Amino acid sequence: MPPSPGSTTAAAPRLVEQLKSGLDAPICLTWELTYACNLECVHCLSSSGRRDPRELTTAECKAVIDELHDLQVFYVNIGGGEPMVRRDFFELLDYSVSRGVGVKFSTNGYFIDAEKARRLTATDYIDVQISLDGADAATNDAVRGVGSYDAARRAMDHLAAAGFGPFKISVVVTRQNIPQLPAFEAIADSYGAQLRLTRLRPSGRGADVWNDLHPTNAQQRDLYRFLIERPGILTGDSFFHLSALGESLPGLNLCGAGRVVCLIDPIGDVYACPFVLHDEFRAGSVRDRGGFTSVWRESELFVGLREPQSPGACASCGSYDACGGGCMAAKFFTGLPLDAPDPECVWGNADDALAAVDPASLPSSGPGHSKIPKADARPAVSTNVTLKPTRHRVVVSSS
Ligand code: SF4
Ligand code: SF4
Repeated sequence: MPPSPGSTTAAAPRLVEQLKSGLDAPICLTWELTYACNLECVHCLSSSGRRDPRELTTAECKAVIDELHDLQVFYVNIGGGEPMVRRDFFELLDYSVSRGVGVKFSTNGYFIDAEKARRLTATDYIDVQISLDGADAATNDAVRGVGSYDAARRAMDHLAAAGFGPFKISVVVTRQNIPQLPAFEAIADSYGAQLRLTRLRPSGRGADVWNDLHPTNAQQRDLYRFLIERPGILTGDSFFHLSALGESLPGLNLCGAGRVVCLIDPIGDVYACPFVLHDEFRAGSVRDRGGFTSVWRESELFVGLREPQSPGACASCGSYDACGGGCMAAKFFTGLPLDAPDPECVWGNADDALAAVDPASLPSSGPGHSKIPKADARPAVSTNVTLKPTRHRVVVSSS
């Protein structure tokens, strides 16, 4: 079995070459069960908030699970939105486990009380990731909303009290929380939990806050050193562009979009990865004839992504073998060509191209499912880190 994207050794080059040409089934399948969410995080990759009336029904979800069973998909990453707001959440979770498809689900923690924590603990083949984007309430709540830090910590307390074992604490790394990495580590250690760090992408509402939240170049170097020194920290392979700095980070170190990774959205549309919710990266729908299986195996988009990709403007860079030119989603939503350097290229090789991008030409990730229209986005949270959403950006100030 190939190593998972979070494995602790860099993948052997031959294996990586095989993975680039795709597999019969995805290694890392993310399934957003709903766009409904009780929160409205400023960087939400799927612009979640309101439920989409076209959401897959319980029966349709079970049919997808049956397909995943037949494809021998070992586990599925469930997200949203907040997946626990679906009334059939536990029914689908139990069904998936009964069909041999393990579930890792991401939640803001609001709906994990003592009883739910015991129920999750009693179910095999389940993993829980609680989202936390600040090591204190001020930093977290500025991004995720007032009260969300306390809710996440309460859920962690309940899981620990129920004896769940090493759940995950999932952090989207931002300019504001990078100085808190040791504090996140301490929180995880205090629960016997595992820390999982993921990269902020300019997708969904993340596009609106990208300029102000994405880490500086100096912070990226700090993050790289932090990760190199702690190979046990999970990253979902999301920082492989930092491998350009030297020793490769643990993981596959490749863009797996359409090759080993894909996303099923709440209405059954299949995209190349969770961070490219845009028509250009929509491969089909589980509602199409042939279902998910034929989308994964035959869609024109995925077949194309499995072809050798041009290094483009990265061809002359000595770090290309390590970095692979970075993240397709990050390039796309910052207005760069897909064969340009990553917008967070550690050598600054995207800076000139980024400066030349006309903001009016940036691809839109569509209307999304935000409860509040962009133009009226929620006012600043009053904390030491203040985010003031405007139509296209937020202003960050420390007090
Ligand atoms: S587009 Fe970016 S986020 Fe998506 S699989 Fe590729 S590297 Fe990962
Ligand atoms: S120029 Fe391209 S390959 Fe080189 S470090 Fe930057 S993104 Fe990576």
